[in-house]
Amino acid sequence: MAKKIIVAGGGAAGMCAAIYAARNGGDVTIIEKNSQLGKKLSMTGNGRCNLSNLNMNEKMYNLSAEKRMKQWLSVYGVLDVINFFKSLGIVIKSDDGYLYPVSGQAGTVVTAFENELKRLGVKIIYGEQVKSVKVNDLAPYEGSIKPRHIEAVLTRGAKVDNKRENYTVVTNLNSYEADKVILATGSLSGAKSTMSTGDGYYICKQLGMTIKDTYPALVGFKCDESEIMPENGVRCTAEISFLLGGEAIAVEYGELQFTKDGISGIPVMQASSKVVKLLSEGKPIYASINFFPDYDEDDFIALENEMLRLRDDRSLKEFLNGFYNSNINDMIIRRMKMGSSMKMKNISESMVKSIFATYRDYRMKLSESYGYQQAQVTSGGVSLGDIKDDMTVKNHNGILVIGELLDVDGRCGGYNLQWAFTSGSIAGTVASL
Ligand SMILES: Cc1cc2nc3c(=O)[nH]c(=O)nc-3n(C[C@H](O)[C@H](O)[C@H](O)COP(=O)(O)OP(=O)(O)OC[C@H]3O[C@@H](n4cnc5c(N)ncnc54)[C@H](O)[C@@H]3O)c2cc1C
Repeated sequence: MAKKIIVAGGGAAGMCAAIYAARNGGDVTIIEKNSQLGKKLSMTGNGRCNLSNLNMNEKMYNLSAEKRMKQWLSVYGVLDVINFFKSLGIVIKSDDGYLYPVSGQAGTVVTAFENELKRLGVKIIYGEQVKSVKVNDLAPYEGSIKPRHIEAVLTRGAKVDNKRENYTVVTNLNSYEADKVILATGSLSGAKSTMSTGDGYYICKQLGMTIKDTYPALVGFKCDESEIMPENGVRCTAEISFLLGGEAIAVEYGELQFTKDGISGIPVMQASSKVVKLLSEGKPIYASINFFPDYDEDDFIALENEMLRLRDDRSLKEFLNGFYNSNINDMIIRRMKMGSSMKMKNISESMVKSIFATYRDYRMKLSESYGYQQAQVTSGGVSLGDIKDDMTVKNHNGILVIGELLDVDGRCGGYNLQWAFTSGSIAGTVASL
């Protein structure tokens, strides 16, 4: 008889799990508290949906996930994602290794998921919030039961115990019986409309799982000295180092974006999971920006000397015009507490050198992150120590946990959606066995 499978949460991971479970013969229902499926998915990649990356390996994930990730990616990696999307009718293109739907529209990905769920007869209940999962003990299996195909799904086959349970999924309105429950309720990160309120942490805690402390990640930071910041939205390519006690804890390169009171952009987001935790512990973290990362020491001195020859009647503002982005020049003039109309001939050579040095090491003290609503992911969550390779929970062989609800966070670049699809496909297949 078909397994009755309930998927709590119709985001990227939950929809993928539901499709795999239904393709394998499961009788699947998704319970989604929002009024639509895949709300967050439709916002990914600036609306383009960066769904995976050709440069895929376990090092792209947080340390606690890294070891397990190698195994999971070997079961379901980038090629599997590409083939899965092909099966949904979505054509994928690579933009420097970053994978997107050719349509350039995340909405087409959500629609493709919805169409496939419909085709497979998956039932969808909207607007109900899963509150808890009750475990009902059943008479144990007799003898050793080995699920079909499990070795095909897992490289290190799962051990199957004889314990038998079924489950009651309790929502704010109803309760539903299930043979298997897949928890895919996501994290705390994302705009309000994504309804990312971390419900799954409470559900999993009630079931005896450990929840690792959570922090916003892939997020920007507010900085002290917001009064001297350039205009909101100024972008420039730079190297940014995050310093604790003068030591770099992360160094990233790429397009920085200044906000009205802080910094963001991909290089900041990439470093954020390391930085947020230390900041929340009250550690003083500074960002040091090098606006001339492509110049080594000698090249920069040569540039300085060339510029120094221009020290004449022109003003400091005119002198720096064309040296770098004018918004950044103005910020540096404000930082140096100098008048932009000062004549260069009245500014000492050592002072001009100290201005130049500021372009290579512009320090800003970080005050706090922009928080969960601006963050793309959450670091922390359900401990992987509670989860077997086949995504089932150690103490409950019919409950599976997937996606961002787990203590897995990847770098920017398609790694988080890859994880949603990897964990979703494994869980969907295993649940249906
Ligand atoms: C702005 C933004 C851009 C991003 N861009 C990218 C990108 O380009 N590439 C990338 O790899 N990653 C990106 N991410 C991260 C990626 O979107 C997530 O990692 C991924 O969506 C997580 O999938 P999930 O299914 O685990 O969780 P979600 O997608 O958050 O889905 C969880 C679902 O569960 C539902 N739910 C929650 N609680 C309950 C409950 N109690 N009962 C019933 N339903 C519930 C929610 O409504 C939601 O539909 C981005 C994130 C954001 C916020």
